[in-house]
Amino acid sequence: MDMTRTAGRKMHELMSDLYPLCRSITGEGVRQTLAILQRYIPLEIHEVPSGTKVFDWTIPKEWNIRDAYVKDAHGKRIIDFHQSNLHVVSYSIPVNMKVLLEELRKHLFSLPDRPDWIPYRTSYYNETWGFCLSHRQLEALTEREYEVCIDATLDEGHLTYGEYVIPGESSDEVLISCHVCHPSLCNDNLSGIALATFLAAQLTRSPKPRYTYRFLFIPGTIGSITWLARNEMNVQRIKHGLVVTCVGDGGRFTYKKSRQSNAEIDRVALHVLKQSGYPYVSEDFFPYGYDERQYCSPGFNLPVGCLMRSPHGSFPEYHTSADNLDFVRPENLATSLDAYRQVIEVLEGNCTYLNLNPKCEPQLGRRGLYSTVGADPNHKLDQMALLWVLNLSDGVHSLLDISEAANQPFREVKRAADALERCGLLRKVEVVPTAPASG
Ligand code: ZN
Repeated sequence: MDMTRTAGRKMHELMSDLYPLCRSITGEGVRQTLAILQRYIPLEIHEVPSGTKVFDWTIPKEWNIRDAYVKDAHGKRIIDFHQSNLHVVSYSIPVNMKVLLEELRKHLFSLPDRPDWIPYRTSYYNETWGFCLSHRQLEALTEREYEVCIDATLDEGHLTYGEYVIPGESSDEVLISCHVCHPSLCNDNLSGIALATFLAAQLTRSPKPRYTYRFLFIPGTIGSITWLARNEMNVQRIKHGLVVTCVGDGGRFTYKKSRQSNAEIDRVALHVLKQSGYPYVSEDFFPYGYDERQYCSPGFNLPVGCLMRSPHGSFPEYHTSADNLDFVRPENLATSLDAYRQVIEVLEGNCTYLNLNPKCEPQLGRRGLYSTVGADPNHKLDQMALLWVLNLSDGVHSLLDISEAANQPFREVKRAADALERCGLLRKVEVVPTAPASG
């Protein structure tokens, strides 16, 4: 548990490094973010030119910003981009002019019911400009005229994303995807970036996994559409996937199922949450939210769910300046990482076996598998797990099926299967994968 706690603290430190950067769906903020992640994992950086067609979409122009402010008649900055990058509507076109307050107000956004918070607004596909500010700041604007400046560029450039693949024994893949397009906002989305990075780093240090793991760090929506368009020929390798976001708040876990609704990843995630004792809720798929919308579009229908804590929109801090480094806690990040690691442990270990002594129960005591008084409790095998594995190992039921039937943690059932295999009572069988669900 100490290692997990350390990981929570280190994830929070990574978020602190990333927090000041002004990210958007394109631009230097994304590149700087990915460059910081490269200190942890050898991310490959992809640059896709503006104007590239990706299915029904087109890669937009690249947006970069250096400075932005609103000044009063004395030249004092009353809204300053350098105080918070949330002050500028993301993708604002450049402006530099004097405006009457009446006109300026049409470009200002605040939250009257949260008068100290700055909202987060974007205008990616509609060329306009705007400022976000606290309602108190808005109410303090009394002068007739103000100077506004947004020193930004919106030019032909690139969409940038990061990709990291950890090869496994099999070419079948597990996809872990997170978005990298939000500026100084923590739960949504720096927590997802930090968790995915640490999960990838830990897997890199582990023995070669069974599955190949593909980590994507992409701008929301346009990034997943771009990736799917460029990798359409290979997406069928993805057998399981999770979108990582909102994993640092103190709320209970939420698992949003894939569109397939009963894919292995759906069952694994819910099994882990149930057996871990962490409070959680399960949600059916709906075509809104994060990049699962694209992975689960009907033309792909990939088994990709979303494992998070409080979903978008369900906490008042969402998409405001209050979603800051205090709102996400190291201990919550650590617990979330633990849940992801448990999901991977089940995916890696979920095999199907055949009982080689299926006619009546084998004699376990003779093989040292039956519990004896005074046995080391740390090494004692769970008798019920042994009996369940023997009974359901018919070449059809997987260890996950058995864990569910036995209502036992996967780890316990896996330990029982390993012991039974060691003494020759079980043999692993290759299960012919079922065709992906159509429609
Ligand atoms: Zn968001």
